Parts: sequence; C-alpha cells; structure tokens
Amino acid sequence: MQTIDHWISGRTHTSTSGRTAPVYDPALGQQTKAVALADANEIDLAVADAKAAFPGWRDMSLAKRSGIMFRFRELLNERKGELAEILTSEHGKVISDAAGEIARGLEVVEFAIGFPHLLKGDFSENVSTGVDVYTLRQPLGVVAIISPFNFPAMVPMWFFPIAIAAGNTVVLKPSEKDPSAANWMAELFTEAGLPDGVFNVLHGDKVAVDGLLEHPDVKAISFVGSTPIARYIYETAAKHGKRVQALGGAKNHMLVLPDADLDVTADAVVNAGFGSAGERCMAISVVVAVEPVADDLIAKVAERMSGLKVGDGRRSCDMGPLITEAHRDKVASYIEIAEEDGATVAVDGRGIKVDGADDGFWLGPTLIDNVQTSSKVYIDEIFGPIVAVVRVESYEAGVELINNSPYGNGTAIFTNDGGAARRFQNEIEVGMVGVNVPIPVPVSYHSFGGWKDSAFGNAKAYGTQGFDFFTREKAITSRWLDPSHGGINLGFPEHD
Ligand code: NAD
Repeated sequence: MQTIDHWISGRTHTSTSGRTAPVYDPALGQQTKAVALADANEIDLAVADAKAAFPGWRDMSLAKRSGIMFRFRELLNERKGELAEILTSEHGKVISDAAGEIARGLEVVEFAIGFPHLLKGDFSENVSTGVDVYTLRQPLGVVAIISPFNFPAMVPMWFFPIAIAAGNTVVLKPSEKDPSAANWMAELFTEAGLPDGVFNVLHGDKVAVDGLLEHPDVKAISFVGSTPIARYIYETAAKHGKRVQALGGAKNHMLVLPDADLDVTADAVVNAGFGSAGERCMAISVVVAVEPVADDLIAKVAERMSGLKVGDGRRSCDMGPLITEAHRDKVASYIEIAEEDGATVAVDGRGIKVDGADDGFWLGPTLIDNVQTSSKVYIDEIFGPIVAVVRVESYEAGVELINNSPYGNGTAIFTNDGGAARRFQNEIEVGMVGVNVPIPVPVSYHSFGGWKDSAFGNAKAYGTQGFDFFTREKAITSRWLDPSHGGINLGFPEHD
C-alpha cells in the first residue's frame, strides 16, 4: 500500500518515524493509502530546510519571484483536473465541487501574483530638512500552515501563495485524513521553478503540530480547523512568541424573512446545507425561519432534497460520503438526539439509497424541524449533511438568536426588503454576511475570517490582510550627511 511521505527540499523524504495513519477512499469505505506521521527529527529537518532556503528566496528579485508564481498559476490551471481527482478520492466530495474548491484557491494564487505592488512601502521626503522616512515590508522567515480535512487544496492555498510571494518559506502540515493534495501542489510549485526548501510539506498529527508550535525557528502559524484546536493553537503559539492566526469552527445561520422568494431560498438552503455533504465551514446548518414562513419553506426544501443523488463523487452525483466512518456515525447520532429532544425529523438521511459502494461512509441529506436552542443539534457544530430549522416570531428574535451563538463565521439573510437587509448587515455579529447569498466567502482580494469563537487573532486569511500577516514593516529614517548636520544636542530629536 502506498505511503504518502513528506516533501522536503524539493523532493520526497521517506519517513523513518515508524508511525503512519490510514487514508481512506470514503466512497469505497476502504483504506487505500497510509500517511507518514512526523517525529521530532523530521520536524527539525523540515524547519531547518525552510530556514536554509529563506535568505536566497527573500533576496531573489521581485521579477524572478513573480515569474515563478506566474508559472505555478499556469501549471495549476492546466492540470487542475488531476488535483480534483485526488481530492475526490481522499475527501469524497463530488468532482465538480472539488473543481470549485481549486478554482477558489487559484483565485488566491492570482491575487498573490500581484505581490510586488502589495509589498511597496511608503516614502516621506524631507520629514525634517534633508531627512527622509520610508518603510519596507519584509518577510518573517519560516512560517507554518496547519490545515483541516475539508478543503485539502483551497485552505492551504489561502495562505501559501501569499506567504511565499511575500518572501517567506513554508512548512505546510495538512490534515492527515486527505494528505496527497499538499504533496501534489508542492511538487507542482517545484516544477514551476520554486527553489528547493521554500515550500515543504510535513505530514503528521498532534506531534507535528506541537513541534511546529514550539519550534524557535518558526515565526508564524496560520491554522484552520475546529474551534477547540484553534483556541489551543492560538494560545500555544502566542506563548511561544509567534505571530498567529487561527480560524475555527462555525454554526452558520440563514435568516429567512416572510417576504423572501421561497423558491430561491429553498434552492439556497439545499445548495449551502448539503454541498460537500455539509463539511464546509461556511455551510448553512441552521435555518432561522421567521413565521409564518416555516411550513412553506420546509415543504419546498424537502421536495428539492428528494431529488438529490447521493453517491460516489466520480459518478454523476450531487453529494458524496462523509470523511470517515467515525465522523459519519457521529453526525448520524444527532438525528437520534433530535428525536429524543422532541424535534421533528422532516427528512431522514439514514439508510438512503446511494450510487456507490456498500461500505462507503454514507449519510443522506437530513432536515430537522422545530429544533430548540437547548438541543445539541442546535448547539454543536455537526459538520455533516444536517440542516436544523428554528422557528422564530420576528426579525428581532432571529437576530438575537444569531448574535447569542458563540460562533460568528458566516450568516445570510434572505429577503426582498432592502431596509431589513441593511439593518441586518449592521446589527449582526458575524464576520462574513450574505444578503441573498448563502455562502458569502469573500473573493481573494478581500479577506476571509469570522468573529468570536470562529477566529482567534486579528488577521484574516488572504487579501491584503494576508500580506500584512506574512510581512513585518520596518521604518527607516535617513539623511545623507553634510556639515550643517553637526553639533551636540542631547534633546529628543525635533523636526526643523
Ligand atoms: P481539526 O481541528 O480536527 O484539525 C485541523 C488540523 O489540526 C489538522 O491538521 C489536524 O491534524 C490538527 N489537529 C487535530 N487535533 C489536534 C490536536 N489535538 N492538537 C494539535 N493539532 C491537532 O479540524 P478538521 O476536522 O480537520 O476540519 C474541520 C473543522 O475545521 C471544522 O470545525 C470546520 O468548521 C473548521 N474549518 C474552519 C474554517 C474557517 O475558515 N473558519 C475553514 C475550514 C474548516
């Protein structure tokens, strides 16, 4: 069975740790590969390699660095089909969804290609007579990226193109559940001309993550994953003096007002709730229906759900399996919890007929009505194809409910009332807001990030904030001496 090894110094590094984890094809329900899990020596090796590559990469001309970034973009665009197949074979999402994920990552690569403009500093001439002040934006050094299973290509691409374009060197620790995409992207970047050691992939579990968090030569951590781990990453990295951004989990609400177009809204609920089997940090997991809209909306959503085809993502299906058997079972257990808590299971995804292997990690789309906010179905991030409906009596009650959630990643309002939408965008305590847009992931030249327990640290991912995170500013005050600058004066410098 194939073992996925580290990518260090521009080539595969065969692990000697003696530890591996299984990698499954979720649609087959079978282990197809193993992934190496790094030990302390391998962590040191990857970081040392990135550190050694840093001075050369930092000092390479902007023109040459741009050329390499551009070639990477071209190769990725030409060969993205290969990457989509890898994503489907390890994550399970359908091929078209995998292609969509790559397209959103490619967008960040394209944004990063404009880095010479974004790295320009400021210049003030004659701040004092004959004295100029200017700023430089310089890279940090070795930066580590730790990514989740649900976007094995896009989430790393939120960070590494910008980190690398800005002159840093990278150690990427991808999810051990679907690790191959990281190697594929790193190898492609090498093919594009990236010097060895600028982009390393270190596979592993908590041992690798902790090693990176504590390593004195790692200057910054970009993390994406669940909230408890994000909080841990944020606190541990900060304790070790590192710059850190840690994006966490979510529970995204869609507020539906009585004047909304219910057909368009029902389409959006189905697309945003069940795309990628609900394993998206921006998936809609709670519909907050302002009465009297709930009965009609639920009927329309249920009708659309009955037409969804669940199966192997390589076939013509709408929704694939979940990532592992354990995760599938955990997600399915929330349907039982819903029943125990007195909610109404309007559409039950258990036992659904699929177009795929018997052992795949299947769970069909599920809709649960009359969910109480005290139920774990409402409280927990389920991260699967389950949409909960909470009925409320007013816009105000809906906003209060959303603002009381500890999460603040994404939210959406569906309405035809511009005033209500405007009020919502002002009052809602969530980092990314959609107005009649169910998954409001900002484009690459804006920045991505939630509020509250959905993100720790003050820098969002990509966009100009990405460049802020991966650079530090240096301010230079300069004068070229002439005799008039002489004389002794111990006072604090004033300008003349
Ligand atoms: P996860 O938190 O289990 O794992 C994320 C990363 O952390 C992985 O690389 C994993 O190896 C590592 N990790 C896991 N346990 C660890 C531990 N105890 N100590 C140190 N490192 C550890 O998340 P996941 O299940 O891979 O991904 C799904 C989660 O990610 C969901 O909660 C989802 O909402 C979140 N997510 C958030 C965003 C966002 O932008 N806010 C985007 C994608 C996913």
